[in-house]
Parts: sequence; C-alpha cells; structure tokens
Amino acid sequence: MLYKNRVAALRAALVEKESEAAVITSAPNVRYFSGFTGSNGALLVSGQQVTLFTDPRYTIQAGREASAKVVIAKGPLETVIAAKLGSFRKVAFENGRISFRSMAALQQARVEWCSLDDTCERLRMVKSEEEQQAIRASVLLNSAALDEALTHFQEGMTETDLAAEIEYRMRRRGAEKPAFETIVAFGERSALPHAQPGAAKITGRGLLLIDMGSFLGGYASDMTRMAHLGRIPAPTRHLFDAVHEAQLAALDRVKAGVTTASVDAAARKVLQSHGYGKAFVHSTGHGLGLEIHEMPRIGKKDKTRLQAGMAITIEPGAYLEGFGGVRIEDTVLVTGSGCEILTPTSKKLMVL
Ligand code: ZN
Ligand code: ZN
Repeated sequence: MLYKNRVAALRAALVEKESEAAVITSAPNVRYFSGFTGSNGALLVSGQQVTLFTDPRYTIQAGREASAKVVIAKGPLETVIAAKLGSFRKVAFENGRISFRSMAALQQARVEWCSLDDTCERLRMVKSEEEQQAIRASVLLNSAALDEALTHFQEGMTETDLAAEIEYRMRRRGAEKPAFETIVAFGERSALPHAQPGAAKITGRGLLLIDMGSFLGGYASDMTRMAHLGRIPAPTRHLFDAVHEAQLAALDRVKAGVTTASVDAAARKVLQSHGYGKAFVHSTGHGLGLEIHEMPRIGKKDKTRLQAGMAITIEPGAYLEGFGGVRIEDTVLVTGSGCEILTPTSKKLMVL
C-alpha cells in the first residue's frame, strides 16, 4: 500500500507533465517508490506498471524487497530500459541526478524526454507516520552514540580518534552507517563549517564542534553540539550565546504554513543583532529523510511553505577565522502548531 500510494502520487505528477512514463535512476528515489535498497537499480514507472531493473547480484534481494516487477539486466540498465520504451511518446527522467553517459544510453530510445526536476524530491518532503518513526529512532540512536562516545573522551585524543569513537558507537547501536562524514573540529578549526577531522590533538583550551548523523532503517538524523576544553573565555561565551539565541528564535518560528525563508530570517536577525551577521555563512537548515540533505532548504531565498510532517534541521552557526566557530543543530518535525524537537541532547556548552 505504501509504495502504491507513492507511485500514485508520481503518476499524478506525470499526467501534469503529459508524460506517460518515468525512468527513476537515483538510489534514494528507487528506494522511495519500490522499497529496493540495492546500489544498482532503476525503475520504469508507467501508467500500468512499475518495473525494477537491476543486475544478477541483486536477484534474491530484489525479489524480497521490491514492490515491482523485477527484470535482471545483463549490461548497463539504461540500455536495457531504452529497449523497452518503444510504446511511449513522452518519458520523464531525473535530470538532476543522471550521468551524461547513462542519459546517452537512454536516448537510444526514440521518445521525447521531459525533465522531472524536483518532482520526486517534492513528493518526499512530507513524511508518513512510519517515516517519522524511523527518523525519531535514528535521532535517538545518534544522541545515545554521542553520550557514550563522550564518556570515552580523553584530553590529547585527536579529532580523528573522537570521530572514530563516535562512529563506532553508532554502529554498535545498530546504525547502518554515519549519515555523513562525522565532523570533529577543535579550536580555530571549528571556524571551518565542514571541517574534516584531522590529526590535531584536542588539548589545551578551545571550542570543540561535533556534527554527526546516523542512518537507521534507511533514515537520517543530524545534530551539532558544542563543547569547550578548559575555562570558557568571555568572547567564546558571547559567540555561543548568540548562536543559541538564534537557534531558539528559528525553532520558535517553525510551524506549518510559514515560509522557510522566514525561519531563516529569524535566525539571521538574531546573529546580526549580536554583530555576527557576516559570520553566518550557510543556510539555517535542510530537510532530511532517506538522504541527509533533502528538500526543503531553510535558506534566505526559499519560498517553500512548511507543512506538518516535514522533517528538517535547524542549525544556525557563526564562524570567526582564527578564533573558532559555533553551530547548534537539532532535527525537528514540523507540526500544525509549531514543531517537535526530536533531538534529546542538551544544547548547553559542555565543559570537558
Ligand atoms: Zn549536521
Ligand atoms: Zn545538517
């Protein structure tokens, strides 16, 4: 039923595009519309049928997982699919996700092609009850992994040591994998919003930024927390308090019906008032689900209106070169009256 409803929504979108079928080639969308989790799969969705094309490595798995007719292809999937498109006039494809080579193979079919743009991604924005439960479980696991990893923290560990500890705790708790490369950044390096953990030792005095996410049951979680080594200097406290206030202001704005731009503006206004306007170099958040970054974007120019059941992050930050940076991030569910903050971890600036 789950996949039937999702496919029905896709078909309705295809009718609007006057397209008779769609070729879905990206793994998260193949999974969303069929349940198949293999790394090599493509769907052909027509008005009557959903067919999954995969290779012989996945014969058993596809039979078990896929809510679709399964075709085991020998050779590139797109070549096999192209041979099946003869009866269609106009077919939609994932223009934002397909490689040039795969598209060239599909174009062996003499049909008119039309772009799906973000059709599938829009259908995925509002999460079903089951998806919300999956995200909830992923968030709880992620927070428990952080708590546990921090009990093994020792001054003098490298950033990589702590990142490894965190990812080990995730896996031991049942996560399939980290939702992205765990960020552990100490001292001045915390000013790099997407720092890669390195050989730098976590020792002395300074800010420690930890941004981590897990995949559980296919669904992502995402959280950033801050700690400090040693006594907290006044400028660090000022920076932390400003970001904290901005995060609360953005959370306060989240509600069904509100534009994502206005949530972003709420955080930006607070940081500007504290003199950190230029130090906030990214958007306030993003949707998440089968992928770590999904629609909607919670950014300056994004006009999407929030709907109940969307899962998003709220993560303002401020980054000062040569000093350090602060980001605080929760995963939340949008509701009719506001939002439910799923992340249970305290936001306080931890002193290690
Ligand atoms: Zn994050
Ligand atoms: Zn995030």
